[in-house]
Amino acid sequence: QAVALRARSVEELYELLETLGSGHFGVVKRCRERSTGTFYAAKFVKTRRCRGSRRGLERVQVEREVAILRDLQHPNIMRLHDLFACRAEMVLVLELMRGGELFDFIAEKEMLSEEEAIEFLEQILHGVQYLHGRSIAHFDLKPENIMLQEKDVPKPQIKIIDFGLAQKLEDGVTFKSLCGTPQYIAPEVINYEPLSSATDMWSIGVITYILLSGFSPFQGETDAETLSNVLEGAYEFEEHYFSDTSEMAKDFIRQLLVKEPQERMTASECLVHPWIKPLSRKQAAKRSRSSINMKNFRKFNARRKWKLSYNMVSACNRLCRMRLLCSPRTEGEELDFCAPLCPQRCCESDQEEEGSHPVTLLRRRRSSCS
Ligand code: ATP
Repeated sequence: QAVALRARSVEELYELLETLGSGHFGVVKRCRERSTGTFYAAKFVKTRRCRGSRRGLERVQVEREVAILRDLQHPNIMRLHDLFACRAEMVLVLELMRGGELFDFIAEKEMLSEEEAIEFLEQILHGVQYLHGRSIAHFDLKPENIMLQEKDVPKPQIKIIDFGLAQKLEDGVTFKSLCGTPQYIAPEVINYEPLSSATDMWSIGVITYILLSGFSPFQGETDAETLSNVLEGAYEFEEHYFSDTSEMAKDFIRQLLVKEPQERMTASECLVHPWIKPLSRKQAAKRSRSSINMKNFRKFNARRKWKLSYNMVSACNRLCRMRLLCSPRTEGEELDFCAPLCPQRCCESDQEEEGSHPVTLLRRRRSSCS
């Protein structure tokens, strides 16, 4: 069922509750629909008021996210329930993810076999297969965008969220973009080459690698180093991190972290890879005997969370500094802080120092179709 744009205010129809998280262009709050009592997540996205302003997202970008989301209906994809818009803001009322991020859920476990990890991965692959079957690429697959609907249930359900960078790919139309997060982006993004659904499959290769080892395959000291590692395609399965990993799992990753996009496994191919769908009892037994490196995974996750909050705090600090440095403004004049403050919408950094961003990747949501 298509979601119609509402002329009324969100607060008339929903009671707004606590903040669940924040993105670069607004906050996400838990809310309760007044008519039904059902809980949802309301994502507030600031939109630019005028063409010249760099504050907020261009309205067409949010409209693209909405257009993609409103047509999606799959158990592993977050649903859009309602939509509101005013001059400076759009509010997306989304299916509520009560279970938090998948990586946080896993980090709380004592131990996890490959077989259990595969149950989650399979759900991610089903969601991605559905998207790609509709010619939609997510282009921002990373741990923060893989959430659980509920966690205190026997089989938690995965949902892919944040379609802010997603694109409908058209036949015969080349799509290029410099968006993404250095650790998870494919070489073709960095080279500003045509992107495709295979670009998402690279990110799945990186996520799987981290999930099994707690080690990020291309992470460098700086973003520039990370990007150059991605371009070199230089990664290995260090014994120290992969001592409990099965050969089938490594083969699965090898078939995703391939420089040539056409040579990467598709989501459908992944779903029939013997690591995911074992062909024999022997293969199945290997998966249940192999386990993920929990000690290292917990370390990776703690560092990841620390960096995410560091980025948020340093963004606030930069904002304060800029406010102090700004010359007095006339009433009604907009403070133009968004570009240096949050280039991450375009290319999210895992580095502490923003100065380390390669210039090309600082372009905000630059993309082109030809
Ligand atoms: P980014 O800056 O990464 O582009 P964004 O502005 O597009 O982010 P989201 O990633 O969609 O925003 O949401 C920001 C955070 O809000 C998420 O990381 C998550 O913690 C929380 N969140 C988003 N959607 C939901 C949801 N449906 N249910 C619960 N929490 C959510």
